[in-house]
Amino acid sequence: MLAAKLPRLETVEVVEEEMPTPGKGEVLIRMKASALCRSDLHRYHGTTIFDEEDEKSAYITPGHEPCGIVEEIGEGVTKVKKGDRVAIYLGLGCGTCPDCLRGDVMLCKEFKCIGFAVNGAHADFMTIPEENCLLMPEKMDYITGALSTDVGGTLYTACKSLELNGTKSVAIIGCGPMGSGGILIAKGFGAKVIAVDLDEKRLEMARELGADYTFNPAKCNVVEEINRITNRIGVDTAIVTGGGNAPLNTALDAVRTRGKVALIAESNKATIDPSNQFLRKRTELIGCWYFNRADWEEIANFIVSNNIEMKKICSKTFSISEAPEAFPLFDSGATQKVVFVWE
Ligand SMILES: [Zn+2]
Ligand SMILES: [Zn+2]
Repeated sequence: MLAAKLPRLETVEVVEEEMPTPGKGEVLIRMKASALCRSDLHRYHGTTIFDEEDEKSAYITPGHEPCGIVEEIGEGVTKVKKGDRVAIYLGLGCGTCPDCLRGDVMLCKEFKCIGFAVNGAHADFMTIPEENCLLMPEKMDYITGALSTDVGGTLYTACKSLELNGTKSVAIIGCGPMGSGGILIAKGFGAKVIAVDLDEKRLEMARELGADYTFNPAKCNVVEEINRITNRIGVDTAIVTGGGNAPLNTALDAVRTRGKVALIAESNKATIDPSNQFLRKRTELIGCWYFNRADWEEIANFIVSNNIEMKKICSKTFSISEAPEAFPLFDSGATQKVVFVWE
């Protein structure tokens, strides 16, 4: 079988590898779609986001936003069967701590991520514990399945934490793939969406995806504009998808009193103004990363039953043998999601 590897800095190779065999409690997945993610690019550029990464990661297949078909089941597998169409949950946990038991595997102290600590999904096949298999609704196609895990699941969780509905407004700060997915899902909740990005092309796409207002911080004072369109009250909620100082501060300044901000961007450090942005406004800041495994059914049904067109954020598809072209294209920032597909 073919698998993509990141053997050296900014080098992608597709290698012939032996098929993995599912161990006890594991299944073998025949891959159908596997999306590239900004976090794959950390490995591509030799930077890290998870502690467990080391030199051996050069041999680990990337890919953590996939779906496929169960090809073979290992000993003791009872919950999935051959032929099941499944999306894959990216987290491996200890299985016994309170977070794991609650389904919040991504919060486990022993959390490991597929595609970083163990072989991931940018390959023809992969093995995975059966509890990581997320059954896909019949009407969900494979590209939508892949985009409904990291993007769909994270943004659904953020929108739900913000209690979005038809009476609420949300500012989405940063309109890359996560922000674009956020626009689709926030519209699914019925919210008014204000999209903010420095890139005019992304703002054009934001309008196509249903954003009600778009603002470019290079061309206007975003907080002033948001105050203007909200009768000087401020936006009810915000989702921050960009790292660093500016996106977080824009959100904290733009939300109304008792506003809520969901932070989904990876960011090392940022400077904020606690008294003015939190204390005197009673702002709530919610950290959101990935989703509770038990929420999958709700997430998938929300996407299917509301016709959330996740596929609109897929700019280009490649076969796995084209991985050396796909990575630099995605890295250029000129696309939204890039997805490997198998016919
Ligand atoms: Zn991802
Ligand atoms: Zn655990």
